[in-house]
Amino acid sequence: MKFITLNNGVKMPILGYGVYQIAPDITKRCVLDALEVGYRSIDTAQAYNNEKEVGEAIKESGLSKNEVFVTSKIWITNAGEERAYDSIQKSLEKLGHIDLMLIHQPFGDYYGSYRALIKALKNGLVRAIGVSNFYADRFVDLAMSFDEKPSVNQMETHAFYGQSGLRKYLSEFDTKLMSWASFAEGKNGFFTNQTLEKIAAKHSKSVAQIALRYLIQQDIIVIPKTINKARMVENFSVFDFELDGDDMSEISKLDTNKTLFLDHQNPETVKYLRNLI
Ligand code: NAP
Repeated sequence: MKFITLNNGVKMPILGYGVYQIAPDITKRCVLDALEVGYRSIDTAQAYNNEKEVGEAIKESGLSKNEVFVTSKIWITNAGEERAYDSIQKSLEKLGHIDLMLIHQPFGDYYGSYRALIKALKNGLVRAIGVSNFYADRFVDLAMSFDEKPSVNQMETHAFYGQSGLRKYLSEFDTKLMSWASFAEGKNGFFTNQTLEKIAAKHSKSVAQIALRYLIQQDIIVIPKTINKARMVENFSVFDFELDGDDMSEISKLDTNKTLFLDHQNPETVKYLRNLI
């Protein structure tokens, strides 16, 4: 496993396992499978409604807290210093331990939430803090406002949307990019894309493996989700080959620099997020 060193010195696996949209009743089984396959980093969130089951799986696995890197996120409805701090304590109870805590969305009193994260860091509740879905303007504004810089910004990032615009601002604060939807959740024919299929055939690998390798070679943290154990093995087997310069350049041409999910500039998205508060 390759590790990424965060801006406060904490090390995290570059490849982890995400549990978004995994129903609570199968989460424990999925996380136990992932840990058995070899994953040592799990990404969950208060909003996924499965933190308790993630915690139970880690406990049942017998692995120590130093061996499994746990990430969670503060949901919009818990925004604000006091509420966010309280919610971190609740997440901690469910998960057993938390390595990295993020603000899930830049909505509500997220400056208050960031103060709660700093307090949680200082009090030893978490080992690193960061944000998610913070586009360049909000990211820079927040990062400039605090001495404790976000260690991570978890963003939609995949071959079709590489976040090139945001990346230079992240590097200014040594904030690492963590990709969600590394497969674009299969949207826009991701798994049958001709370029990805051609490069996959060249390396005798799958499109999923090429997609992950493409991000890993750019030091982007990945957390692919699957409920299927064979796919967990497939997604984990990405350290025994390398994409060459031509492969990287061909894949980079697929980048349309557009979200395939929530467009924060779209009034409908704003309405949706606003209704969540
Ligand atoms: P993703 O990892 O891009 O795609 C998951 C989809 O790909 C599932 O439908 C899965 O199906 C399928 N899949 C997985 N491995 C495959 C393989 N080897 N071959 C073919 N299909 C495969 O999408 P995601 O779950 O949205 O993102 C990953 C993680 O990022 C999440 O679980 C979550 O932890 C995090 N996330 C964060 C945010 C945020 O706002 N911060 C938003 C979204 C996601 P099966 O399960 O049926 O195999």
